[in-house]
Amino acid sequence: MMEAKIETAETQNKAPRGVRDILPDESWKWAYVLNVTAQTMADFGYSEVHLPIFEHTELFSRGVGDTTDIVEKEMYTFVDRGDRSVTLRPEATAGMVRAALEHNLCGQNVSSKLWCWGPMFRYERPQKGRYRQFYQFDAECLGLSGPVADVEVIALSVEIFRRLGLRNLEVVANSVGCPNCRPQYRKVLIDYFTSKKNSLCKTCIERMGRNPLRVLDCKVPNCGVVADSAPAIYEHLCDECAAHFEEVKAGLTRLGFPYKLDKRLVRGLDYYTKTAYEILSGDLGAQNAVCGGGRYDNLSESIGGPHLPGVGFAAGFDRVVLVMEQQGNSFGKRPRTTVYVVAQDDAARGVAQILTHKLRMEGISAEQDAGDASRGARGFKAQMKSANKIGAAWACIIGAEEMAQNVVTVKNMTSGEQTSVPLEEAANYIRQQETQS
Ligand code: ATP
Ligand code: MG
Repeated sequence: MMEAKIETAETQNKAPRGVRDILPDESWKWAYVLNVTAQTMADFGYSEVHLPIFEHTELFSRGVGDTTDIVEKEMYTFVDRGDRSVTLRPEATAGMVRAALEHNLCGQNVSSKLWCWGPMFRYERPQKGRYRQFYQFDAECLGLSGPVADVEVIALSVEIFRRLGLRNLEVVANSVGCPNCRPQYRKVLIDYFTSKKNSLCKTCIERMGRNPLRVLDCKVPNCGVVADSAPAIYEHLCDECAAHFEEVKAGLTRLGFPYKLDKRLVRGLDYYTKTAYEILSGDLGAQNAVCGGGRYDNLSESIGGPHLPGVGFAAGFDRVVLVMEQQGNSFGKRPRTTVYVVAQDDAARGVAQILTHKLRMEGISAEQDAGDASRGARGFKAQMKSANKIGAAWACIIGAEEMAQNVVTVKNMTSGEQTSVPLEEAANYIRQQETQS
């Protein structure tokens, strides 16, 4: 095994390259996006599952494909202490199909609509919108082979983005055919690329024979020019794939979704079949795909399962948040603390502690000065400052007078208005005021 590099003083207190912390200023936005996603998934009949973060390496080499960038050079693979090769999941589809097979979620004529979300891992060159640990939400419709399922999956992704307020998106679609029609298209493509060999990059020349479809999505500019003039697969589909593609397109039109055909959009593997699509954002620069998906009728067999058709998508969580921020979209209201409980003097601290806990038990978010006499318990003014700083809507002030009368002074932090409320009534009073505002 390769000798691992040891961290140096410079790196030891930093997260590894390409991974990042999602801090409070951002995490509340993630919660919003996740909520909207979960609700939309439910509205489309998808049930959530939690999948393992690592799987047997073989699942991905067979289920994603060993001529893909992911398997060739991006996987975090290691040998565990039991000498098994395991891999941090680079994507979710293979795991989802594995789980469906393992737990028999799709019997004969039984389909399953499943979704999940979470971190994925790929060893890539980190850039804006491209990380080594990134997050996806992912929907998979298993057991249905008809074009209605493809349209529903595309509609689901479009609807999530509509609810999130994303603008300037484009749906691009293609069909990658099936094992019936692809061999013939491969020949046409190899002939074409052979005639243009001098303009292709080294990787493409190497790939050409093994997997000519991959040349179509090469990012090298010269290869792109060649690929732009390549014969389109949708002109070489068998009758079944052609009819399927026509119905998918008709379905998109029926639902009023504009789309563009893109003959260079491929997933050049045998078990990807028929529909392939992406949703691109005009506001992301180079990393412009927010979502990619398609049909994979032969994936189950490729990982050793029975025939099980499927169609699904994966969307990049980090990129969705990035676009929303760039477009100035709403993330709903940032959760804030409703009440700051202020003790006017040390004698009031015990009552303040009880009130804070009672408010919290009532589901009203409350904060207090958690210092104590030996560790910088702060005075009245400093506490009021904290109340302001955290944006509390109310301050509940307790001092000697309040204690004597068993009341609390409730201050509206926006208007400055103060009211005296019986201690027992404080939670009710605040709740009432909050629902009125
Ligand atoms: P790309 O062309 O951007 O590399 P991909 O084709 O590798 O994307 P998929 O495997 O289809 O991506 O994953 C679906 C989505 O996940 C992408 O559309 C993107 O939004 C997101 N995604 C993929 N890789 C990353 C990454 N390294 N960092 C952040 N998001 C990513
Ligand atoms: Mg990629």
